[in-house]
Amino acid sequence: MLQKKKITFSLLLLVLMGACTYPAKEHINLEEQAWIHGSEDCEQNSDPLIQVVKYDEDTWILRQNKCTNYEAPFMFLFFGKNKALLMDTGATREEDKFPLYQTVKSLIDARQKEYATDLQLVVAHTHAHGDHHAADAQFQGKPATSVIGLQVEDIKSFFAIENWPENNAVYDLGDRALEIIPIPGHQKSSIAVYDPQSGILLTGDTFYPGRLYVEDWSVFKESIRKLYDFTKKHEISYILGNHIEMSLEPGKDYPIGTLYQPEEQKLPLYPEDLEELHKALERLGDQPTREIHDKFIIYPIK
Ligand SMILES: [Zn+2]
Ligand SMILES: [Zn+2]
Repeated sequence: MLQKKKITFSLLLLVLMGACTYPAKEHINLEEQAWIHGSEDCEQNSDPLIQVVKYDEDTWILRQNKCTNYEAPFMFLFFGKNKALLMDTGATREEDKFPLYQTVKSLIDARQKEYATDLQLVVAHTHAHGDHHAADAQFQGKPATSVIGLQVEDIKSFFAIENWPENNAVYDLGDRALEIIPIPGHQKSSIAVYDPQSGILLTGDTFYPGRLYVEDWSVFKESIRKLYDFTKKHEISYILGNHIEMSLEPGKDYPIGTLYQPEEQKLPLYPEDLEELHKALERLGDQPTREIHDKFIIYPIK
């Protein structure tokens, strides 16, 4: 009887959660989005230093020019009612080569004007590798701006994450509650971010069309299992990572350090791609093993 009550309650909860899903906003098709991808001769490169793409009314995707840094990381800006969250600050510190603060500030200024509101900017990171926090200093000390630290302790305390890395936390930007998901393994401080409004799941360097560098094999495996379970229970539009290193040819990556990727793989991945990674890791067992897949390469570094 108790069991039956429990099941009924769970069903009710599911129905209620279903009723609370966000109305879908009009967004661009990321399968068709072209990205700046460097040049054969960077002297001749006339692309913007930062490509700025409006994904939907409340979400922006930025990419650093490969000619300033071969890593060409992606960065993501989410707007809520009271806050803007910038995930990552790219691979270059100097403002003249990489004007990230100015770029983000102009997006925020336009938003504040349009919505007649004041926004707090929070700068956080998918993880602590240098190609994702190089421009932090551009944001430090700026008005209405907080830059979150890079250590596990900083992330735990800012997002109020208990029992790292098992538990997730919810972080609300104002009518836009994001889920913060600890996923160590590529790097100790790695997190994923899920946005129920757009269905976007950010996975940093843990899962993207490229070389998935694994620092801690068993911890990485556990994080991928956790992410895979998460995608089973949530609506996912796109899984977006921080780089593109694969070409359109299945299983073929560009050489490390290349400044030109004319035929690069699309940015988005999907839950079925994550399932492929999860199953491969399960099959490979405890032995860190490099393995090439069509859209990514499992790449242990220890
Ligand atoms: Zn990394
Ligand atoms: Zn990276």
